[in-house]
Amino acid sequence: MAKVVILSGAGLSAQSGISTFRDSGGLWEQYDVSVVCNYDSLEKNEALTLEFYDKRRKELADKEPNKAHLEYAKLKKRHPNEVAIITQNVDDLFEKAGLSRKEVIHLHGYLPEIRCRNPYCERVYEIGYKSIFDFNDGFCPQCGEKLRPNIVFFGEPAPLYERLNEEIQSCEYIVVVGTSGNVIGVNTMANFIEHSVLNNLEESAAIEHQLFEKVYFMPATQAVDIIVEEIERFLR
Ligand SMILES: [Zn+2]
Repeated sequence: MAKVVILSGAGLSAQSGISTFRDSGGLWEQYDVSVVCNYDSLEKNEALTLEFYDKRRKELADKEPNKAHLEYAKLKKRHPNEVAIITQNVDDLFEKAGLSRKEVIHLHGYLPEIRCRNPYCERVYEIGYKSIFDFNDGFCPQCGEKLRPNIVFFGEPAPLYERLNEEIQSCEYIVVVGTSGNVIGVNTMANFIEHSVLNNLEESAAIEHQLFEKVYFMPATQAVDIIVEEIERFLR
């Protein structure tokens, strides 16, 4: 288990030009998120849902990691066992910043991957930025079942939250960056973890920032140097 957890959300990747549904009022690039991001979306609106994720995946192709991705990735490389990189983001910017797929815990899934819908198979395939239909016509090569994005839809179980909880239990230093706190209860974390750092652009209704030991209301790219320096001092 890692001593230091870097928990990131959409705010981190927004600086790399990745739009999120939270700042779009329920519409994500003209798609109604309740129609294409819900647990029943594949059943009710299959074509539209697959098209939506195809477009999001394709958009990643020319996106670049920003300074915050790069510096946190380097920190992880310097302390592979002591630092955990956990993100709500489904993009591959930490991977583009030099981390392997295994070094990043993607709580809500990973866009460059698709997964078999057969619950007895659930094989995962990496397709990069391609359309799901460009991979074996959208069918699992192993069992023949249809494929789907390897994304956690609203109302679906998110198995990696267990991993998050485990890491949080043993963690001594939490950094929360670029998240509104609406999905993950970061207040509790700040309460019982010895050292806690919050880095968001501004205050959020869901986060009691006074609970954090240190608070930086500024872009992640601006705060990352001082945060990483403090972590290095802690780990020394
Ligand atoms: Zn399969």
